[in-house]
Amino acid sequence: MINNNSFSYLKALIFEKKSFCITFHTSPDLDAICSGLALKKILLKKEKEVFIISPSKISDFLKNFIPKDEIIIIANEDEELSKNIFINSDAIIFLDLSQKKRLDSVIENFFNQIESQKIVIDHHKNPDLSMGDVWIHDEEASSTCEIIYDIICRLDFFSLIDKEIAEYIYTGIISDTGFFSHSNVTSSLFIKVSKLIDLGISSSLISSKIKSSNNFLWIRFLGFLLSEKLNLYLDDKIAFVEIKEEEMRKYNIDYENIGDIVFYMLSIKSVEVAILAKEKGDDYKLSFRSKGNFDVANFSRKFFDGGGHFCAAGGIYMGEKKDVRKNILELLKKELKNTIL
Ligand code: 5GP
Ligand code: MN
Repeated sequence: MINNNSFSYLKALIFEKKSFCITFHTSPDLDAICSGLALKKILLKKEKEVFIISPSKISDFLKNFIPKDEIIIIANEDEELSKNIFINSDAIIFLDLSQKKRLDSVIENFFNQIESQKIVIDHHKNPDLSMGDVWIHDEEASSTCEIIYDIICRLDFFSLIDKEIAEYIYTGIISDTGFFSHSNVTSSLFIKVSKLIDLGISSSLISSKIKSSNNFLWIRFLGFLLSEKLNLYLDDKIAFVEIKEEEMRKYNIDYENIGDIVFYMLSIKSVEVAILAKEKGDDYKLSFRSKGNFDVANFSRKFFDGGGHFCAAGGIYMGEKKDVRKNILELLKKELKNTIL
């Protein structure tokens, strides 16, 4: 549910302000990108000036969902331009993130110099309230795209949703709900989705686009990870994969292009929690997935400066690199006692 006061504040900004800068979390996913594109198109229809700035590179997979003529500035590659846009826009809209550290880019460095209004639209747990002036934060929402749909309806802009905007919103929703299979799916979501389908989008075309946009190198790499790197621990309840930068180089695969191996790990019957640790410089970026009997967001927040959702979360491991697996498994073993172990 969207808070009434926050919504009134947002509405006033959308009507009064002229220029907007939209951004989202680092290593954006489909929900981040598609909520950004949908919101940008709505604001353009209201004759606003809109820029989209991504904190970091866009993966090849995501590029399939972005129009060829769309310009997305990459903050880590174009620092001066990004800073200028951030500082000179009337309002900044942060999508699909609610913690500054999830910007993980040069934006963090000049964040405190931004005097424009900061609007946060998100569905992750544990927001960092120092981040924004206006909060449209709905932890019950399946995706940021669903919140964008709610905002559009409450602004009485439903008639502005054309087929392209409907496709963006639908794409973000099916991506964040795992094709309507996660616990974040509600009856009200289906009602919203039915309205999008009535606008002429094809759910089967969008689903097959997501399922068939993988890059060949990634599929080869996935084969390597599944056959060589996947191991089970703690009575086969924990699946763990550790990826070294050297391995990504050997398979000629970009960090951004690493897809959802955690999905395959969790598909093993005995597995309750899947963990992916990707080496990144001095640290490891962690991804956690749970079948629903253990809160991985809580675990990640407690030990890895992370967060996310009950069943899907991420964080950073900054300890001794050679002990990454041992240390994480030890912590997990303690936390899992009396739950699923
Ligand atoms: P993924 O494993 O796909 O990177 O992320 C899973 C979920 O956890 C996503 O909803 C993502 O936004 C969130 N998440 C991933 N990494 C972090 C992190 O470092 N900090 C926080 N707070 N959330 C994260
Ligand atoms: Mn999301």
